Amino acid sequence: MDSSTTWTRSPRRRVSCTGCGLVYNLDAKPPTNTGECDRCGGKLEVRADDRETTVHSRFIEFRGSTEPLIQYYGSMDRLARIDTTGGIDEVGKRVTAVLDGLLGIEAG
Ligand SMILES: [Zn+2]
Repeated sequence: MDSSTTWTRSPRRRVSCTGCGLVYNLDAKPPTNTGECDRCGGKLEVRADDRETTVHSRFIEFRGSTEPLIQYYGSMDRLARIDTTGGIDEVGKRVTAVLDGLLGIEAG
């Protein structure tokens, strides 16, 4: 999974009310008045967790901690790389195929 995929999957199109905490998904459920809570009239802000920089720095951190494992298992020929683009079903089938291969199960 590259960082651009992570970004498009992240729920960064969300804002929450600073007054009552209600969360709005700007694609699915936008507030009636931009920047204002429908329930209490409070100010809407992008949640810190959802900011692109937070997601991006998490990805950098993830790479930093997994890279040594990739090197280690790769050097022992015990690393399977699975393409994580596509839907859950698609990726799930790829994971299952790899596991079946390891367990010696015939596909079908
Ligand atoms: Zn509110």
